[in-house]
Order: sequence, then C-alpha cells, then structure tokens
Amino acid sequence: MSEQIMGKSLDRWVHEFPLLNDIMDYKEVTWFNTNHVDFHQAVADVGLSTDDIDDAADRLKRFAPLIKELFPETKQTEGIIESPLVAVPDQQEKLAARYGMNLPGQLWAKLDSELPISGSIKARGGIYEVLKHAEDLAIHAGFLTYEDDYRKLASKEVRAFFNDHKIAVGSTGNLGLSIGIMSAALGFSVGVHMSADARQWKKDKLRAHGVHVYEYQDAYSVAVAAGRKESASDPKAYFVDDENSPTLFLGYAVAARRLAGQLRAYDVRVDESNPLFVYLPCGVGGSPGGVAFGLKTVFGDNVRCIFVEPTHCPSMLLGVYTGLNNDVSVHDFGIDNVTAADGLACGRPSKFAGKAMQRSIDGFCTVDDDELFRIAANLHDSTDIDIEPSSAAGFVCPWRVLKDEQYREATGLSDAAMAHGTHLVWITGGSMVPRDEMAAYIAQGERLLN
Ligand SMILES: *Cc1c(COP(=O)(O)O)cnc(C)c1O
Repeated sequence: MSEQIMGKSLDRWVHEFPLLNDIMDYKEVTWFNTNHVDFHQAVADVGLSTDDIDDAADRLKRFAPLIKELFPETKQTEGIIESPLVAVPDQQEKLAARYGMNLPGQLWAKLDSELPISGSIKARGGIYEVLKHAEDLAIHAGFLTYEDDYRKLASKEVRAFFNDHKIAVGSTGNLGLSIGIMSAALGFSVGVHMSADARQWKKDKLRAHGVHVYEYQDAYSVAVAAGRKESASDPKAYFVDDENSPTLFLGYAVAARRLAGQLRAYDVRVDESNPLFVYLPCGVGGSPGGVAFGLKTVFGDNVRCIFVEPTHCPSMLLGVYTGLNNDVSVHDFGIDNVTAADGLACGRPSKFAGKAMQRSIDGFCTVDDDELFRIAANLHDSTDIDIEPSSAAGFVCPWRVLKDEQYREATGLSDAAMAHGTHLVWITGGSMVPRDEMAAYIAQGERLLN
C-alpha cells in the first residue's frame, strides 16, 4: 500500500503506532490506553453529567407503568427493563484451564442477553431513545405532562398521533430490534435499515411486528446513511443516529447505577483495594461507551473499563489508538470487517462516543472469531447460559489483564488487589436467538474445542 491514509503513508503510521502491524495482520492484541486520565477529567470530557443520567433514569421510571402494560414480560420488574447479575465460577475454571492460568478474584456475568423486549444491551439505549422521542412529541402536542400516568400514551388518540410520525434507524440487527419493537408498540411507523450482517431471524421478527425492514448487501455505515437520508426529507421523521447520539448513550449509562445496587446486594465491594474490571463488547462504541461513562460516575477510578472487539473489526481501538476517532474506518487500514460477531461489525466508530470516551477507556482487547465460538460453547457447558458470538468477547479479557505485568505494575494492581478483584463480563445479547441457530453456534464451538 503506497497510498496515503489520512495524509500519512502507511509506513509513517506503523512507525508511530507499531501495534498497527499486528492489528492489520488480524492478530489478537491488547492495548492499555496511554492517554487515560483520572475519572474527574474523563467524566468532564463527555460533556454530560450525573444530572443527565438522573434525568434518563427518571424518564425510564415515568414510562415503567406503560412498559409493564405493553410488555407483560416486564411485570415482575414493574416495567423496569433490567437484567440479572450472576457469578460464573465454573466458566472461570474452564477458562483458567484453557488459558493456562488461574484467575484470582471472581468472575461475574451481567446478562443483558436476557433483557426483556429485545434480548440485548440495545434494550437500554435503543428503547430509551424511542421513549424520549415519544415523550417529547406527546408533551409538545399537549397529550401529556410529566406528572401524568404514562399509560395514557396507549390510548387510541395518542397512538393515532404517533402513527402519523416515523422513526428510522440503521442497524446490524439488535439496535433495529429494540427500536423497531418499541416504536411499533407505541404506534409509530418505523423503518429499520439493515446491513448485510443482520441475521435473517431478526428481520423476520421485526416484520412480524409490522416494522418496515430495508435490506442492504452492504456494511452497517451504508445502512445508517440510508436511514439518515430517509428521515432527512421528512419533518415528521426521527432518525436514531447510532453513530452520534448522546441520547442512546444516556440510556446505556443508567445501567451503571443499577449494577451498583446488584453488586451491593451480593456484598461485592468496589474500592481501592477491591478493583472492579468491566469488559464490554464494542461495535460502534455507544453501548460500551455509555455503560462505561455511567460506571465511572459511580465507581470513579476503582472501575476499569476494557472494550473488546473482533480482530476483523477493531474500529474503536483504531480510532482511539491513532487519535483519528471517527475519521478512520477499518477499511482504511486494509481490515475487512468480516466477522461472525454481527453485533460488533461496525467499521467506523461513533463520533460522539469515541470523542467522549477516548481518555476514559482503560484498554482494548481484540479476539479472534473462532475463540468467540469456543467461549460460547464453554459457557453453554459450564453454566447453561446461551449467548450470541458478539457477547462472548469479554471473557478473554481478564486473562489479558492478568498476563500483562507491566500494566498491572504501572497502575497499582498488586497481587493483593488482584486477589480481591471482580471481573465482570458484560454479556450483550443472545436469549432471542432461534434454537437451531444457537445449536449451530455451540456445535461450531465444540468442534473448535476438540
Ligand atoms: C450492538 C451490540 C454491541 C455493541 O454496541 P455498540 O453500541 O455498537 O458498540 C455488543 N453486543 C451486542 C450483542 C450488540 O448487539
């Protein structure tokens, strides 16, 4: 390659950023963020505050009675969309054997795979943004006040009003599911623009909900551009911009304070001598960015947030490592963006999340697709939890931290601290995968393990 990448030769890039060699060779890499700053500074970078997270949490609370009515599966949580936190010691043992090293501390999993309504982490940000838009419209039109019982919004009159409005989104699958199902449930006319990575069952499910699904034989960024274009010409259309949305980000951020409550309930301590590590699968960067932002506001520097991406689509890593952020796509460095981790197949990182979080993210890991299948099979065997490949990514990370003595020494992770460490893998999707497809994932993992 002799051509220029963002005004520099490839040789020059590699000289300045030597890890690019391995990244471009699709090797698994680990990079701890050399531009990392303390959480006060990091939180200030984002331009949002804890008040904004409070506001998002309050909004979800106002909508809870309506959610409970529209989605009976949320009855047991009173209309709050939340997922279980579980310890996974058997998986910890299995992976210790595979990676040849015992992990001190405890391994936990946050099961967003089991979130109601859409079965993935997108049920946080995606649904939140639809609700915020619905509230804005209904209040502006005089149908609603903040003090009202939000079940009002299910009335015939309000539904007809929403039906006159359009919501659009571009997606690799799960964001489309969340936006589509929630928008349709409120009565909106909704268009989901799906990239080539999107699984057929996700499109089928959306169509069954009355959602207009547009299919592209192209990458996620093309689907997003199509959705943006569809909405731009229509004043009654609203586009959920996954590449640039503070609203989505805040919906994700609410997860952190709820997690804090769950950790307290199990007496899992988080402080200077009890570090918390959270591993977040990363696509465009919105969901891990929002969750990590929330976590930093709750736990400060006692939480370390590590993002994990497929070796064939390390877009956020490229953006943060080189400082190019959303100006770079993996294709610029000859990386193909072909991965079985469909939820993570975003070649260009989010503009908002990348810039907001570039100094807060503690590190990045990349993982080979085959390993995702092996981990999913391991988890199925050890714990009877079934997940989609994207969700398996975080399990490699604790061992990357463990094996990097230099990082641990430089950042005060003594043996004693590691012994009291909590490693939390965010499982981002899976419960809605059809049985035959899930069985095929597990079978592939078993084959690779043998
Ligand atoms: C979307 C998604 C992610 C990553 O979220 P981004 O906001 O795109 O970074 C991770 N896992 C699953 C299953 C997803 O659907």
